[in-house]
Amino acid sequence: MPHGYTGNILHVDLTHQTTTVETPDEAFYRKYMGGSALAMFYLLRDMPAGADPLGPDNVLVLALSVLTGAPLSGQSRMTAAAKSPLTGAIGDSQSGGFWPAELKFAGFDAIVVKGAAKEPVYLWVKDGAVEFRPAAHLWGRITGDAEDAIKAELGDDKIEVLQVGPAGENQVRFAAIMNMSNRANGRTGLGAVMGSKNLKAIAVRGTSKVEVADKQAVSDLARWGAQNLPQSNITGLSKYGTAETTGANQTIGSLPTYNYNSGVFAEWEAIDGTTMYDTILKGAEDGKQDRLGRDTCYACTVRCKRVVEIQEGPYKVDARYGGPEYETTSTFGNYAGINDLAAIAKANELCNQYGMDTISCGATISWAYEAYNAGKLSKGDTGLDLTWGNAESMVKLTEMIAKREGFGDILAEGSARAAEELGRGLGDYLITVKGQELPAHMPQVKKSLAVIYATNPFGADHQSSEHDPAVEADFETFKDRLAMIGVNKQLPKRSLDAEKIDFAVKTQRLYSALDSLNLCQFVFGPAWQLYGPDQTVETVRAITGWDVTIDEIQELGERRLNMLRAFNAREGLDRKEDKLPAKLFKKALKGGASDGFKLDEDEFEAALDTYYEQSGWDVETGNPSRPTLERLGLGWVADQLKM
Ligand code: SF4
Repeated sequence: MPHGYTGNILHVDLTHQTTTVETPDEAFYRKYMGGSALAMFYLLRDMPAGADPLGPDNVLVLALSVLTGAPLSGQSRMTAAAKSPLTGAIGDSQSGGFWPAELKFAGFDAIVVKGAAKEPVYLWVKDGAVEFRPAAHLWGRITGDAEDAIKAELGDDKIEVLQVGPAGENQVRFAAIMNMSNRANGRTGLGAVMGSKNLKAIAVRGTSKVEVADKQAVSDLARWGAQNLPQSNITGLSKYGTAETTGANQTIGSLPTYNYNSGVFAEWEAIDGTTMYDTILKGAEDGKQDRLGRDTCYACTVRCKRVVEIQEGPYKVDARYGGPEYETTSTFGNYAGINDLAAIAKANELCNQYGMDTISCGATISWAYEAYNAGKLSKGDTGLDLTWGNAESMVKLTEMIAKREGFGDILAEGSARAAEELGRGLGDYLITVKGQELPAHMPQVKKSLAVIYATNPFGADHQSSEHDPAVEADFETFKDRLAMIGVNKQLPKRSLDAEKIDFAVKTQRLYSALDSLNLCQFVFGPAWQLYGPDQTVETVRAITGWDVTIDEIQELGERRLNMLRAFNAREGLDRKEDKLPAKLFKKALKGGASDGFKLDEDEFEAALDTYYEQSGWDVETGNPSRPTLERLGLGWVADQLKM
């Protein structure tokens, strides 16, 4: 009996409405472990190169890990991966909630979806049995309504529902896959892939338990986490949610404002985590928000998820759609100079109802705001007044994008395609990498992110490595944990030399492993998280019984990164796509601690060379080399690349 995993991979052929179950051996699970690395195995094995991201040849993988469903904080996460309709590169995104653990209890470690159904369908997975069910009656319905309807027709309130909303059906290129109607596999447009396959939802219910190798060790880790949470570095995140970090980013000048023209927002306090806690968190009016306004994922004691409720005023918000994260308050807030927290909460609700990535949606809107305020777009183009700070238009545009109405239809393609379609030099205002909009951490300030954003296989991502403050101002606090992965030296602020790249590469490998183990990066990580790298190793040992080391975990992260890059290489992408927005080099930031900051082309290109070298990749192409792939047990991938 395997520990931690079920041994079953469900393959679903939507075209022929058939299913098969593959049962890989233990060596396979030890090599890929789950999540992103496991998903990449199936994408590289089963998807033809050059597939249309919105066609039946694209393969969508939903993968748990060997840890999912164990009774420990931070393990109930799922990776979705497919070719991205937003970038044309690999798409990869994680989400939490209860669906991941429930799928494990239903008997599967992953679902590999191929083909496309002729008519809308949903899958019903219960204790190892799988059924295709018609979904025409659910098509067009927002997530909460569809979820209720599925639970009612299957007659079980405990079912967990993963689904696409109308935005995924409409193939908005940054549509998300939703679960619980408020958790999103948000980035890279995988909701559009699911919508293109006419797959409305996957409902799951299971009654089996996850067998762990060492119950006592798992329980000791859980107890340690619960006891140490109040004194830990994530106690603020636990109470105030991720929007707690708004102030920290403001202080260092890394709060993207006016579409990345400034790193400070004068009205940041109106939209931060404390204001949300004091005003719109469910129960705030009676001081009951700690009980009513904080949600969680399966078995997680951190409870960082926000639940907001607004019953009066122009922006009423239903608590079932959760509440905004920092990325959301930022992209719908400071990105466009908007200081109205209720409007931001409304945009967040719309994104969760229609199923859209809040980062790409908010950032695409802020790109349009900059073009409008520069006089390159008019009200005749947009139908709306997009003056900086106009919250009403931002909310309206969010809904128009989801429904592909009017100017929203152009923005539903993402800012890079919209700029190309509209012309007029609108590309000058783009804040994208590989066509995906940047998250709310600024590479002009946290400079290792310049390299991570540019090279990350699925576009700029803020959850792919540790940020610079951990090895700069905060080093003394985190040095013991960082030493566990070989980062031993404090570095000067805003450096981008070989030592900074070494920090980026080593922390990137750990974050990459976490996305394969599907561990929450607020709970596990190399620095400020609840559990450090040593406890990540202990967790894998306790659940699986494998005698893993930190080196094996780091190698897992490296293997996954190489598979992602190899996928892109197979699609014809290389170093040429590892570019940052021109504005970041040309235009100095205005105001605050980052006043005058911009990136330097020569320093950036030299840092890229160093990054490829340290990764064992070809410096000219940025692609993985055969020796590196073979060292990682990926000779079969090198064969695909014909190298
Ligand atoms: S820390 Fe927050 S996001 Fe992470 S597992 Fe716990 S509740 Fe979910």
